[in-house]
This record gives sequence, structure tokens and C-alpha cells, in this order.
Amino acid sequence: MIVFDLGCENDHRFEGWFSSSEDFERQQREDLLSCPLCGSHAITRRLTAARVNTGRAEPPAVQMTREQAASQYANFDAARLLKLVSHIVENTEDVGRAFPEEARKIHYREAPERQIRGTASPQEVDALREEGIDVVQLPVPPHLGDKPH
Ligand SMILES: [Zn+2]
Repeated sequence: MIVFDLGCENDHRFEGWFSSSEDFERQQREDLLSCPLCGSHAITRRLTAARVNTGRAEPPAVQMTREQAASQYANFDAARLLKLVSHIVENTEDVGRAFPEEARKIHYREAPERQIRGTASPQEVDALREEGIDVVQLPVPPHLGDKPH
């Protein structure tokens, strides 16, 4: 999965999830993308680096605010989102509120490299990104977030 930063003709910023850049181009061509804020279909990709939510040294950050996150994506219906979130929950270590600290340790190789999830405030996420630590924000339904390991 790749996350692209997208924008509409009214300069709204949001994200879309794609399996590849070809997938983005196809969805754009077939008019499947729309702005979550104004509904515009004039969607363009912003000139920022793509982020991939799986892979080495890219721990996903998970936030609990489902409503906020649900309005953030151009092309993610609830069922698809739930599937992705379930996959991430099953394949990451839950570090809870220690997420920003743990993500830094992994980034600076002070902790074993692994995929983690947890909670972080928007400010903490911004700070991590400024340090070059790639994080992805996802909504997690409470029943998945509380799942014991
Ligand atoms: Zn818009």
C-alpha cells in the first residue's frame, strides 16, 4: 500500500491509499477519487514523496479518532479501511502511549527494528515526521485496539 498526498481544485489537502502509482492513475482516470471535504473530482497528486505503510523502519502510528481519520481519505470505504486496520493490528506490536518514544528508538537503532503501533497526538506525529521518521495515522475501532496479544 502507498499513501499519496492529494489535493483538489479548492486546495484541500488529504490522502489516498493505492496499491501502486498505476492504481492511482487508473482511479484518477476512471473518476473514482473525490475530495472528502468538498466532493470535487478534480484531484491531483501533490509533489511529495510517497509513503509506504509496510516495510522496514516505517512504523505505523495509529490513532483512535476514527471520525477524524475517516474523513481524511479520498477513496477508502469503511469495509476496506477495516480490513487494512485489522491487518496492521495483527502484524504490529502494540506499544500504546509509548509510540513516539519507541518509534524514535527504532529509528535511531536503539531498539530492535520492528513494526509497531500505538497512539500519538497530531503534534507528536508532526515532530516524528520532522525527524524523518515515517508514520501513518489510522483509525482503529476500539474492539480492535483493545485486542490482547
Ligand atoms: Zn476539496
